Amino acid sequence: MPITQTLGYPRIGKNREMKRALEAYWQGKLDRDALLVDTFLEVMHEGWRTQAAAGIDLIGVGMESLYDHVLDWSARFDLIPPRFKSLDGLARYFAMARGAPGIPALDMTKWFDTNYHYLAPEIDASITPSANFDDFLALIRAAQAVLGACVAPIVLGPVTLLRLARLSVDFGEMLSALLPLYRQLLDALKALGVAEVQMHEPALVLGDAAALRPHVEQAYAELAAVGLSLNLVTYFDDLGESYPWIVALPVDVISLDFTRGDNLALIQAHGWPQEKTLGAGVVDARSVWRVRPAETLTLLETLRGYAPQMRISPSASLQFVPYTAAREKALPEALRGVLAFAEEKLVEVRRLATGDTWGMDAPWAEFYAFAPADPAVQARLEALQPEDFTRVLPYTERRPRQVQLPLFPTTTIGSFPQTSEVRRLRARFNKGEISQAEYEAGIDAFIGYTVGVQDGLGLDMLVHGESERTDMVEYFAQKLTGFAFTQHGWVQSFGSRYVRPPIIYADVSRPQPLTVREFRVAQSYTQKPVKGMLTGPVTILNWSYPRTDVPRYIIAYQIALALRDEITALEAAGARAIQVDEPALREGLPLKPARWDAYLTWAVDAFRLAVGRAAPETQIHTHMCYSEFQDILPAIERLDADVISIENARSGDEMLRALAEYGYPREVGPGVYDIHSPVVPSVAFIVGKLESFVRHLRPEQIWVNPDCGLKTRAWDEVIPALQNMMEAVRQMRRTLER
Ligand code: GLN
Ligand code: ZN
Repeated sequence: MPITQTLGYPRIGKNREMKRALEAYWQGKLDRDALLVDTFLEVMHEGWRTQAAAGIDLIGVGMESLYDHVLDWSARFDLIPPRFKSLDGLARYFAMARGAPGIPALDMTKWFDTNYHYLAPEIDASITPSANFDDFLALIRAAQAVLGACVAPIVLGPVTLLRLARLSVDFGEMLSALLPLYRQLLDALKALGVAEVQMHEPALVLGDAAALRPHVEQAYAELAAVGLSLNLVTYFDDLGESYPWIVALPVDVISLDFTRGDNLALIQAHGWPQEKTLGAGVVDARSVWRVRPAETLTLLETLRGYAPQMRISPSASLQFVPYTAAREKALPEALRGVLAFAEEKLVEVRRLATGDTWGMDAPWAEFYAFAPADPAVQARLEALQPEDFTRVLPYTERRPRQVQLPLFPTTTIGSFPQTSEVRRLRARFNKGEISQAEYEAGIDAFIGYTVGVQDGLGLDMLVHGESERTDMVEYFAQKLTGFAFTQHGWVQSFGSRYVRPPIIYADVSRPQPLTVREFRVAQSYTQKPVKGMLTGPVTILNWSYPRTDVPRYIIAYQIALALRDEITALEAAGARAIQVDEPALREGLPLKPARWDAYLTWAVDAFRLAVGRAAPETQIHTHMCYSEFQDILPAIERLDADVISIENARSGDEMLRALAEYGYPREVGPGVYDIHSPVVPSVAFIVGKLESFVRHLRPEQIWVNPDCGLKTRAWDEVIPALQNMMEAVRQMRRTLER
């Protein structure tokens, strides 16, 4: 019988204990022991006990973290940039995570293609790594006290650590400096009597892994010399062209993801090294669905033919799914029956290993009866024609028919402050303390105020402010069919920030208007054009847990069709401009550049499908929260949006230069100030930004707006900032008129 293993487990606490404790600690309301012992260790223990009770043979321990596991390894190897040197202990750790007065934090960025964010190690010539493994070894000992020989320490591999770092020194040199420390760590773990260590090296699935080959081979030759059994773990994609040399590395076990990419095809093409054990990651750690036994058993049967020594495993750490579906009592049973969060996935791993899969099909049969295909949605998809994806007139012909505004038209990205008053109103409505009509009247008052402020400041294109939205995906999901919502389904986005993604379980359609009421209210308060405000199909898809038995593009098209109807309704309500936000378009890019084209083709098509029937007179805007455009500019152009607003204030001129070099033909609103900071930008600062815009772009192409939505800011930050933005624009207009 194959043994079972895990590669990491949720670490936020079943009742979000870590969030509460961290935030109380930061506010000085909780002491160090209460954070570290009463909460952190307790939450970890609970995770270990659950995994042991599920009968997991080798429990991965080491992804447990107060804030982020990559940050932990920066601390353990003393990769501490000089600006943090004046601090130590937890104060330093949290300063690296969140910044401290006058000390910017490490860069935070997405962990591969997940919605988890890690803190990038920063390594320059000032850094001399050294070993501080006390906390890690203490964690392993604590786990051994509970789990005994089941503990498999998880170590972030040296290649991935460096590959993810902001590295301004030579990769090979830094690797050589780190390897003796890694060996020291393995020696210490050997002394603790562990049977095996998991070396997590997800960077080996990236498109450029082949370029790292000499480093990887050097590293694992040295680490293998310690004489401790090593399990080389990768996930999130297949090994690609690097498969043959990676499976030849001197390790005893190699764990691969069989839920993403195509590692099976690689094994079939190149065979499996018989002396090695295969860790078969067949239970999808990033979806919320139960396995479909027929599929998974066939896969396991095939794998066994190649790799007689095999273990069963989740595809990655289970931190990407919530704790347990059993708690979601409000969900229909037929749906709950096919959901598997972390606890259910442990059971699945175990059952697949023991072969006790009898009855695993039954919930699926029930589910399909409960959530049948929607014939109307299916018919619409089947009827799609190429012209559905193309606007009626090309840009040059439709632009003259659209709103005409002054040079450097001013606008914002959509949201305005989500004040405590807004949140209180929503809470009272959710508790049933006020009626729908009272709630709407409250929202309308916020819309009125928001529109009044913009009008008063003289902005050219206004927004309603999004006060009715908790979140730009959840709000839409709640009004569409096909989405379900959990009560406890939190997963960590970063640090103490958790999200609760909706589950897309059935065909998506739009039984009711989504934003028309709020648009009408806003437009009724002003003569200026109000922008309709929608979240795009790719973003709704990427920030949800979609079904895995329906291709992603189909789900995106279904959402797009719903948005398309909303656009028609907004037009009928008088909208002359509509923004369709796609902040998640870029983050959905596959890990291997070779797969980018296929993704971008359907992702851009989904956007085009959403806006394809907009009248030529309707100005379509889109917004994206990043500036790394260079490599996807053709896709951005193919969106065929009339106006696109993008993040820019935190970057130099690169993005403007890239747009100019590319000859981007349509209108662009590069953000003029960073909304993540409470600092009010000065008029001179914004004029400086505008001057750099006109150096690169034609003046008629330029819109003026902040970097992103303003919902996290306070009114007394927003109003002076926009005032300065308007003053800067007035100055620029005057200069150009002269
Ligand atoms: N319209 C949204 C807002 O302003 C866009 C948010 C985003 O890009 N993440 O909040
Ligand atoms: Zn944004």
